[in-house]
Amino acid sequence: MSEPIGTDIVQRLMRHLVEIEAGKLSCQDAFALLDEYADLCCHQKEAEKIMPLVQNHLHQCPDCQAFYEALLAILQSPEGANND
Ligand SMILES: [Zn+2]
Repeated sequence: MSEPIGTDIVQRLMRHLVEIEAGKLSCQDAFALLDEYADLCCHQKEAEKIMPLVQNHLHQCPDCQAFYEALLAILQSPEGANND
């Protein structure tokens, strides 16, 4: 007999899938993830594959796109890298 999958896990997975399908992320959610997303980009990681929702939001939201570009500029400047 196989164990049933925990309903909490299924629910979380379902919600995740729905979010991906809708391509929906609020600006607040996107903002919270932009740091990490920009950091991935700076380290040549495939940020758009790791965090497709953020990329999706950036494409749809000029405000967050502008913020992201500013963030990226700071991260990529020598001053920003040495800033502690
Ligand atoms: Zn936004």
